[in-house]
Amino acid sequence: MLSWDQTPSLGPMRCCRAWVEVDLDALHHNVQQFRRHLGDPTQLMAVVKADAYGHGAVMIAQAALEAGASWLGVATVPEGIELRTAGVQAPILVMGAVNSPEEMRAMARWQLRPTLVTPKQALVFSETLAPLHLAHPLEVHLKLDTGMSRLGFPAAEVVDFVQCVSPLPHLTIGGLYSHLATADSPDPTTMIQQQQRFQAAVAQLQTQNLLPPRLHLANTAATLADPALHYDMVRVGLGIYGLYPAPHLQGVLALKPVMQVKARITLLKDLPAGTGVSYGHAYVTDRPLRMAVVGIGYADGVPRILSNRMNVMIKGQLAPQIGTITMDQLMVDVTHIADLQEGDVVTLLGQDGPHRITADDWANLTQSISWEILCGFKHRLPRIATESSCHGVKPTVIGQIPPP
Ligand SMILES: *Cc1c(COP(=O)(O)O)cnc(C)c1O
Repeated sequence: MLSWDQTPSLGPMRCCRAWVEVDLDALHHNVQQFRRHLGDPTQLMAVVKADAYGHGAVMIAQAALEAGASWLGVATVPEGIELRTAGVQAPILVMGAVNSPEEMRAMARWQLRPTLVTPKQALVFSETLAPLHLAHPLEVHLKLDTGMSRLGFPAAEVVDFVQCVSPLPHLTIGGLYSHLATADSPDPTTMIQQQQRFQAAVAQLQTQNLLPPRLHLANTAATLADPALHYDMVRVGLGIYGLYPAPHLQGVLALKPVMQVKARITLLKDLPAGTGVSYGHAYVTDRPLRMAVVGIGYADGVPRILSNRMNVMIKGQLAPQIGTITMDQLMVDVTHIADLQEGDVVTLLGQDGPHRITADDWANLTQSISWEILCGFKHRLPRIATESSCHGVKPTVIGQIPPP
């Protein structure tokens, strides 16, 4: 991986105050790890909803397809259109439910595969598509509720559901799926129960010769937990970004974190003992202290609740964050780090020398989950791709580029 300063194309970005670095080598590695873990007939859907969990959807989608994923999963219609507009041609499943005719027409126009969760929705869909005179019926995936109690039709009534949808002229059933609520738990009881409901639905359809061509059930955790959950396709989000859904699933594959979050020191100053720092003076120096102001804050995605509780990394050393984290800036105690200058790079998430701070560390400190930490980074931070070899993906810089 190229370091920031060795990357010539990033020249204009040198004055940037903060950014997200996206390691496409790591992404490639993770996708290939999953690819090898799956049997040959099992397809890998890269889940790139929420701007690819904050990493940048287009660049991640292209890199994941290049590395062996064959489907993409998004949550919303605009997320799917963003990929199509960028030239992505792979099948895209929209996993959220769509009810408005405008969105239904857009899905047909952009060849996005909808998730259907009720027979009524299917009927409206088919009627909405009728005047479009599509060359081919739109491929839809039916979703069953097997115990997540979110989107999905009751699994026990699957035959009714399929029998309502299959005669509709403008739709064709391309898949049947469900979503697991507890796949990351060390106790598999509920997951097995959900799988049994899914399996029972499949068996009912089989006896009536109604089985859709593609079955899928597993998220990252289930993909790692049990190959019996893989079916025809797995829907992997978190894992391709190099994080594990739970500690007990860490041994299965060797994943590498894709995201690093970095910012620059914008000001260094020496404070005497007894000085209050930042809003509310929640930190008061108890000794003379050298402090760095860093150009990143909660509006960029650093949770404010980490105030006075997190470390950052500077020149391979840990440095404690001090005082309340503000909207655009935060302060760090750098008394123990020699030879610092304004403009030096601060790593908030990532690796620096012997130290590594991950989204899991922040999730533990904030009682959140790594999914929420990753997709919390806002568009004010440019996404910068780094890679040692070009995997056929043109590195994209997303966000405003300040003048050199
Ligand atoms: C987000 C999502 C996934 C991916 O979940 P991970 O735990 O990130 O792998 C899979 N399936 C559905 C339906 C989802 O909404």
